[in-house]
Amino acid sequence: MAPTTEAKRHALRIAQALERAYPDAECSLVHRSPLELLIATILSAQCTDERVNIVTRDLFKKYRSAEDFAAAALSELEADIRTTGFFRNKAKNIQACCRQLVEKHGGQVPRTMDELVALPGVGRKTANVVLGTAFDIAVGVVVDTHVTRLSHRLGMTKAKDPVHIERDLMQKLPNTRWVAISHEMIQHGRRVCQARRPDCDHCVLNKLCPRIGVAPKGTRTARAATRR
Ligand code: SF4
Repeated sequence: MAPTTEAKRHALRIAQALERAYPDAECSLVHRSPLELLIATILSAQCTDERVNIVTRDLFKKYRSAEDFAAAALSELEADIRTTGFFRNKAKNIQACCRQLVEKHGGQVPRTMDELVALPGVGRKTANVVLGTAFDIAVGVVVDTHVTRLSHRLGMTKAKDPVHIERDLMQKLPNTRWVAISHEMIQHGRRVCQARRPDCDHCVLNKLCPRIGVAPKGTRTARAATRR
């Protein structure tokens, strides 16, 4: 169902307030090329960006191209990314992905959603990160755990799965805001609207936010929620 005018207005006000609060928000994965961003994003699944940045500092000195990753000994690549977790699966995906980049794209990262999601280990979220951040192409909104939580609390979606959350955000916001809004929400989720302790008293969205699912401070439910 298409969003109402009021729902769009609400989303836009939130987007404007976040833009004012985080004018320099950007992807926190350190990278110097679309390939490095693609690899870092694959590594970031179930892992913090800080840990990924520590690992990629040496990884990107050792493997400088898709060809390098494609030709690597799998066990060595696994050891190189071990501390990011799920390292066997990630190493397998990175290698398969880079082999396809070499075979089908001349070693370059493609610039379309269809081509990106056809790569092993690359879903819509990773593709959106690469398209938005590396190529400045707004095809969708990156929906991670922070964007999911904030979108619910702020009343921007009722959807449970990332695909429908993304659809709701895209319908409510102009495409000029799709790339930046996820960076801003991620920053706000890390700094203020944390999962267990949303700091509503010091939040720039305080007056706009319906705080859906957030128990009032000091209540039993709030205390229980912070323990979960
Ligand atoms: S008012 Fe509270 S729940 Fe709403 S965005 Fe701010 S910290 Fe999160």
